[in-house]
Amino acid sequence: MSGAARSVGRDPAEVRLVAVSKTFDAEHVRAAAAAGQVEFGENRVQEAEGKIDLTRDLSLTWHLVGHLQSKKSRKAAALFDCVQSVDRPELVRRLDAAAREQGAHVELLLQVDLAGEPTKHGATPDAIRRILDEAASLTNVRLRGLMLLPPFASDPEAARPYFKRLRALRDELIAAGYDPNCLRELSMGMSHDFEIAVQEGSTIVRVGTAIFGERPT
Ligand SMILES: *Cc1c(COP(=O)(O)O)cnc(C)c1O
Repeated sequence: MSGAARSVGRDPAEVRLVAVSKTFDAEHVRAAAAAGQVEFGENRVQEAEGKIDLTRDLSLTWHLVGHLQSKKSRKAAALFDCVQSVDRPELVRRLDAAAREQGAHVELLLQVDLAGEPTKHGATPDAIRRILDEAASLTNVRLRGLMLLPPFASDPEAARPYFKRLRALRDELIAAGYDPNCLRELSMGMSHDFEIAVQEGSTIVRVGTAIFGERPT
């Protein structure tokens, strides 16, 4: 990660590493934490709950990176420091209300659908604008940026155009007058393509396999 950052003149400290621990148990999380890892990612609320509970003593930071059903908003607001998979205005309102009720504060990233794949979750750039329009009325959640899960391709270079487009979208939104504080983070890059993502401006990489090994299938 540091090498990729330096190769394009970026300070490696600008890029945060979220260790995606899905399918691995709390002991794996503890081992990574012992090696200095602080931020962890999960893609299912249910699975995360037990692990978060078992590692409370470590003061870790938890990110939800998988699709969130509205009916799980309360639980998500209680468990996660950051929900990266927000893709609809209704979910933003629900998370805000749930966080307020529980005295919690949650950061949100908006998952952007750039590929228009019907099977993937994510908001269109238009829906992103609608959500940003409501940002000022939120009290207990804060919009922090954009997240991208590009279509899978074995060649990591295939993701580069998507990374470029996410960054361009962020720049367009700021140029259009949206609050740069709501658009600080670009969460893009996984085990096989994080170096390219960092070259293209990623501020958060979500890495599972490269840290914990192959997931059991
Ligand atoms: C699983 C997952 C990751 C990590 O994937 P790896 O290829 O194991 O690094 C990152 N982001 C999301 C949204 C995921 O679901």
